[in-house]
Amino acid sequence: MPLMPFDIPPSSNLIGGDWICSDAKIQITDPSTGHPLTQIARGTAADIDAAVAAAQVARAGDWGRMTATERGRILTRIGQAVLDHTDTLARIEAQDVGKPLTQARADAVALARYMEFYGGAADKIMGETIPYLDGYTVYTLREPHGVTGHIIPWNYPMQIIGRSVGAALAMGNSCVLKPAEDACLTALAFAAIAQKAGLPAGALNVVTGLGSEAGAALASHPGVQHMSFTGSVRTGEAIQAAAAKNVIPVTLELGGKSPQIVFDDADLDRALPFLVNAGVQNAGQTCSASSRILVQRGVYDQVRARMVEAYNALRVGPALDDLNLGPLISARQTDIVTGFIAQGADLTIAAQGQIVTDATGHYVAPTLFADVPPDHVLAQDEIFGPVQVLIPFEDEAEALRIANGTAYGLVAAIWTRDGARQMRLARALHAGQVFINNYGAGGGVELPFGGVGKSGHGREKGFEALYGFSTLKTVAAWHG
Ligand code: ADP
Repeated sequence: MPLMPFDIPPSSNLIGGDWICSDAKIQITDPSTGHPLTQIARGTAADIDAAVAAAQVARAGDWGRMTATERGRILTRIGQAVLDHTDTLARIEAQDVGKPLTQARADAVALARYMEFYGGAADKIMGETIPYLDGYTVYTLREPHGVTGHIIPWNYPMQIIGRSVGAALAMGNSCVLKPAEDACLTALAFAAIAQKAGLPAGALNVVTGLGSEAGAALASHPGVQHMSFTGSVRTGEAIQAAAAKNVIPVTLELGGKSPQIVFDDADLDRALPFLVNAGVQNAGQTCSASSRILVQRGVYDQVRARMVEAYNALRVGPALDDLNLGPLISARQTDIVTGFIAQGADLTIAAQGQIVTDATGHYVAPTLFADVPPDHVLAQDEIFGPVQVLIPFEDEAEALRIANGTAYGLVAAIWTRDGARQMRLARALHAGQVFINNYGAGGGVELPFGGVGKSGHGREKGFEALYGFSTLKTVAAWHG
């Protein structure tokens, strides 16, 4: 089967419903082998201009005039079409970003689920009537921003397209999507699927290319009314600065250093898989990865021993072999992660998983550090690789101090049977999501997601995203 069986011309962008081939190209490699995979278009500022113009035409035309119910039906149909192509999408993603097939398949199913959720939600967003002065009727209208820009990273392309483009389309916005240069193929495939499922031309435009070129052009484009960005803090700052010039709202989801806090009374049998998986899933290349495991002294040795056992069983290899971990996305990312591991030379490596391939891909053995001081660089900086640190603590106050002691605040988990402690910590933790006796809650399409501090601002997922992708108009009518 060809890599991209969707009738997409090579090295092209989707602009206004047409696939436009580009002369400038970027070579893409398979992270599992380091070998060339395909080429994508190296989009320019002119391509972004054309995509924004096409999105404006769609807003002024069929797409903008469509009822919420009709929009919902189209999104629901797209969801079904994505489900019908789950295996194909998973195979493309596995080769493009090195994600083990099972995880890639889960991403495709999540993309379908976002379409179903936002398809169902599209006609359930309502305004209010507001009691006001005598002789007035006042009500609010939720309206789309207009053209929304979506700059997404390479770690979960399908899920992030689902949550941001899905919600934006549900509200009637037209989208211009700039996927990460290392992970464009499922974005293109999704656009082709959506087009075939009946999404009108120009409602979703996809321009591939470099962050410094197509990305920067989109972020600063005066025809864009809202920017949604997921990625690094450094790029997030640039996106917000560009948005400030145009005075438009931005949603920034920028990663974290998310803790799981394990108390002496925790159900360790339940906790163990979550403690490990939340750190090594997708080879740790997850904004909401749990890279810090805080454990109370009474169970510290036991948790450490059981995590060591789990790490010893982890196998790393090519994405199509579908082991526990695939490669990292790129040689650059491998250098960054191995650089961090080297900074732990003064620490104890409790365990490492095994690389079980001779392939020349970007492999890093998952690494568990023990007894890590909370202020160590490995306990403070986002590594974005399969590295976790174990940090012991004495009591609840110390656990909270450590958990809140980084610049980030995306996700946190509490493992305890003490209900009052659960409630106290859920309030006190500096995070956009808190999980009690679980982590990640099965993906959580329905659950608002986003951070505080350097983890960003704004919320995606759930109904909350629909508020973010719309603006509120107040209408005050005097009728006497
Ligand atoms: P990483 O450094 O891991 O690649 P980034 O945050 O730089 O993470 O990338 C996330 C997304 O942001 C990608 O789609 C990338 O192309 C885009 N990007 C990078 N730099 C810029 C920029 N200056 N302006 C707009 N988008 C950018």
